[in-house]
Amino acid sequence: MKILIIEDEPKTGDYLRQGLREAGFTVDLVPNGVDGLHQAIEGDPDLVVLDVMLPGMNGWQVLQHLRSQGRQMPVLFLTARDQVEDRVKGLELGADDYLVKPFSFAELLARVRTILRRGRNGAESTTLQVADLEMDLLRRRVSRGGHRIDLTAKEFGLLELLMRRHGEVLPRSLIASQVWDMNFDSDTNVIEVAVRRLRAKVDDGYEVKLIQTVRGMGYVLEAP
Ligand code: CA
Repeated sequence: MKILIIEDEPKTGDYLRQGLREAGFTVDLVPNGVDGLHQAIEGDPDLVVLDVMLPGMNGWQVLQHLRSQGRQMPVLFLTARDQVEDRVKGLELGADDYLVKPFSFAELLARVRTILRRGRNGAESTTLQVADLEMDLLRRRVSRGGHRIDLTAKEFGLLELLMRRHGEVLPRSLIASQVWDMNFDSDTNVIEVAVRRLRAKVDDGYEVKLIQTVRGMGYVLEAP
């Protein structure tokens, strides 16, 4: 499987290239949008990892050109923290997924594998669904059984992680690094508190409880 990384920051680019090579992929790294677009068209990679802020031609323009030339290979978009507009724009332009910088390599690899598993024609919708719980990633909306659930940004991030990896027990340390961007400190109960609040919004009043605590391990979201 061939992956093209378009990233101008040498440290990030090298780190991604090395990690993905070690994971068994064939990897090309291009440090600007114009050459990246050319390489994406010529090389026909299975996946493009595309940074937004690039010299010359930015990530949105690269993506737009690719799609306008009928290139439908999946694109995983790297965007700066909290730039919701970027995310919406990227998804509207036809990106398959996005990661907010800084991200862990493990998370990137998991996304890459998911996208590649889905295949070229399995264009994912921009919604996640587990049982009757639905998340609209584009509009940042959540509903259960058709009833709107209002979440804070952190709660949304937490629920998104749980839904993307539903059925998988997620340790608190992983949740801490992915959602709070912090190292897990056992003295803090910030995650427990957030999960409790999220559970109250998602599960209270419903017979089927989707969010479960796995004692000593973490949390899992699954339809029983
Ligand atoms: Ca950049």
